[in-house]
Amino acid sequence: MSETEEHELLRQTVRQFTATRVEPQAMEHDESGTFNTKLLIELGKLGLIGITVPEGDGGANLDATASVIVHEELSYSDPGFALGYLAHALLFVNNFYWAGNPSQRRKYLPKVLTGEVIGCMGMTEPSVGTDVLGLQTTARKTGGGDYVLNGRKTFITNGPESGIALIYAKLDNRITTFVVEKAFPGFSVSPKIPKVGMRASTMSELIFEDCVVPAENLLGTEGGGITNMMRNLEIERLGLAAMSIGMARRCVDVMVKYATERQTFGKSLADHGQIQRYIGDSYAKLEAMRALTYNVAATVGPHHRNRLGTDAAKLFASTAAKEIADAAIQVLGGYGYCSEYRVEQFWRDAKLIEIGGGTLEAHQKNITRDLTAQR
Ligand SMILES: Cc1cc2nc3c(=O)[nH]c(=O)nc-3n(C[C@H](O)[C@H](O)[C@H](O)COP(=O)(O)OP(=O)(O)OC[C@H]3O[C@@H](n4cnc5c(N)ncnc54)[C@H](O)[C@@H]3O)c2cc1C
Repeated sequence: MSETEEHELLRQTVRQFTATRVEPQAMEHDESGTFNTKLLIELGKLGLIGITVPEGDGGANLDATASVIVHEELSYSDPGFALGYLAHALLFVNNFYWAGNPSQRRKYLPKVLTGEVIGCMGMTEPSVGTDVLGLQTTARKTGGGDYVLNGRKTFITNGPESGIALIYAKLDNRITTFVVEKAFPGFSVSPKIPKVGMRASTMSELIFEDCVVPAENLLGTEGGGITNMMRNLEIERLGLAAMSIGMARRCVDVMVKYATERQTFGKSLADHGQIQRYIGDSYAKLEAMRALTYNVAATVGPHHRNRLGTDAAKLFASTAAKEIADAAIQVLGGYGYCSEYRVEQFWRDAKLIEIGGGTLEAHQKNITRDLTAQR
């Protein structure tokens, strides 16, 4: 692990912010199914939205490890809010920055770095998720050089609140990236899609019906979408693995405290061997997911890829977090199944990481493909 003094300072700052600003609002937003957009603006003021953007362009100029730290810390209190942050800061801002040109950065960055304009990323479609290269949204070039988008994206985090979207569409059958403002004619959004967990973030469909996108909103090159997509998926997988660490750490803390205080059969729960197994196994998994994720994060950057490592980190961390949340519910018994201690929420939230940003099966498939290709 290569955590520097700067990383440690960042962790302290985000931990303090999480305890004082994120924790108090978390349950309310889980219950109401709303994303706290004002809190996102507070993260913008702390410089955490442009965490991976160079200083000269208004960012914090930090690395993938820093991004992992922020996602871990926020998820200790509010994984749903952290998911909305991830969709904005990584799926939109980071992706946009590294694919965009100076004039696009000048135009859009100041608005999104403050969190006042919220971004989202549209890759998944109603008929195409894991098999993403088969996406069906089309882009057609007009005689004047503009583009016309047609198609539908689904499960898009921040869709309801976003003012701007990074969209993958096929131009002459080649995946190409566009920046699409909500105000562009022909762009509309469905009502919110209800979901089991991560309720403090929202999602919807994005609908494009002859949506005209100006020529200057092509992001990167025509046909260059796959490069943008694959580069950004790596840091996304790390952010999601980091969220799993935050959720798991919270669940371990809750179960240790509860097992120390709760008495059954004349002794504390922590003195029962079967409970020790839940706690001991959960702690070992937490330490393993932390070591793996931070080790991989140290190898990833805009110009350094580690597809195998990021797939492995998210594959392992997602399931470990879900198992740890499940163990926490078991240790707390009836209290675990009810909302007061919030472990049931972390269990619901943790499940998403086994699906979003790549399913378990997608990671297993990709890891095997890469390993067998090396033979
Ligand atoms: C809460 C939430 C937020 C999301 N946010 C976004 C977002 O912001 N932007 C975005 O673009 N997308 C987003 N997604 C979409 C997410 O990335 C997809 O759901 C995911 O990639 C899986 O695609 P799918 O749902 O179409 O499942 P499918 O691809 O239809 O897969 C269904 C099942 O079949 C399995 N499967 C598929 N192919 C294979 C295979 N070759 N071998 C073995 N098994 C296979 C899958 O693993 C899965 O278990 C979000 C999803 C959720 C639930």
